[in-house]
Amino acid sequence: MISKKMAQEINAQINREFFSAFLYLAIANDALDKGFNGTYRWMSLQFKEEQEHALKFSKYLQDQGQKVVLDAMEAPKTEWKNILDMFEDALLHEKKVTAWINDLYTLALEEKDYATQSMLRWFIDEQVEEEANCNEAIAALAMVGASANGLFMMDRQLGKRGQG
Ligand code: MG
Repeated sequence: MISKKMAQEINAQINREFFSAFLYLAIANDALDKGFNGTYRWMSLQFKEEQEHALKFSKYLQDQGQKVVLDAMEAPKTEWKNILDMFEDALLHEKKVTAWINDLYTLALEEKDYATQSMLRWFIDEQVEEEANCNEAIAALAMVGASANGLFMMDRQLGKRGQG
């Protein structure tokens, strides 16, 4: 059994993960509008991953006998300047998510809630990967700059995500 406070905080995180999904979907849509099909694919995969994060937290809350309460969501932006801007925004958001997960872990430590600590460790590792993925794309995009050829190649590369 987890505390009422912990249940509330995890519930808030479920809603934030759904917002993350929405944000990546908005970026995916804008990438498609701008003709960046590879970036569209990358962001679409991330949209799915974020929904899985929300469902993973939901399942945990339900396994702990708690009710999941879905909130109304803030609308994400609809337009970004370019691919670099998209990844920079994604990174900024992931850093916020990392801080929220860390806050949850701090609470779990304070409450000596070992089950929640164990569940959260997967998310702590996942956040390292999420930030690294964004940083990697940002570094490559910064090298490419405004080169049309470079952006074309980079977009193609991003579209290969998940293909080994
Ligand atoms: Mg997430």
